[in-house]
Order: sequence, then C-alpha cells, then structure tokens
Amino acid sequence: MLNEPIDNAPCIECGLCREVCPIFTILRREHVSPRGLAILADRGIASAVFYQCTLCRACRVVCPVGHDPAGEQVRARVVAQGVETEANRTMIANIRQYGNPFGPLKEGEIPKTLTCC
Ligand code: SF4
Ligand code: SF4
Repeated sequence: MLNEPIDNAPCIECGLCREVCPIFTILRREHVSPRGLAILADRGIASAVFYQCTLCRACRVVCPVGHDPAGEQVRARVVAQGVETEANRTMIANIRQYGNPFGPLKEGEIPKTLTCC
C-alpha cells in the first residue's frame, strides 16, 4: 500500500495528461496512463505498472492542477513496498554476480538480451 501521504495536488481526473504520455500513446490502456497511475496512487495501490512510466514528466507539464502522477516520490514508495518485476530481479542479480546488468559476457561481447523493467 502507498499509505504515506505525499506532497502532491489532488488529481481531478480530467484526462489532459493522457495525450502527452508516451506510454499511453503506444498502449492505449487507462491503467498505464498518468491518470490511471494517479488513481492507483490515490487509492494506495502499489503495483509494478508504475515501472511502465518513463518519468519523462510530460504529464506534469500539462496538468492544470500540478499533480505529479508518477514522480519520484510515488516511485520511491512503490520500491519501498518491495514491488519488483522479474526483469528487475534478474538485472540486480546479474549486477551482484557479474558486475553488469546483462549477465556473463566475454571481453568485447555485445549482450543479446537487454534487461529492463
Ligand atoms: S494528473 Fe492532472 S492532467 Fe492528469 S487527469 Fe489528473 S488532474 Fe488531469
Ligand atoms: S511521466 Fe510517466 S505517466 Fe507521465 S507522461 Fe511521462 S511516461 Fe507518462
């Protein structure tokens, strides 16, 4: 649960932010839109869907009330709740074991898999 209050103006659910969001532009799914993220955060729901956000801040620029649907404060709380993706776990394990996010690599080898959230 995202149960700690954060310094953020309340979202009025107008939807203006959706049209500038690069993730919503591609996926066209409300739950990954900035408005969808704002609603999840408002209801205290910590979900890996927050990691779909690129933190580009385009939504905050157009928001008429200055709400930050998916900023660093929200992201930090999702992380603090232990929400991870399989890709996160793989990347962290690779860094710990091999010193890079890709896994075992020979000298000069280009990774075949790019690990991201
Ligand atoms: S975050 Fe801002 S622009 Fe987006 S729906 Fe909420 S109030 Fe509207
Ligand atoms: S900060 Fe995240 S939610 Fe906002 S426009 Fe960028 S990708 Fe979309």
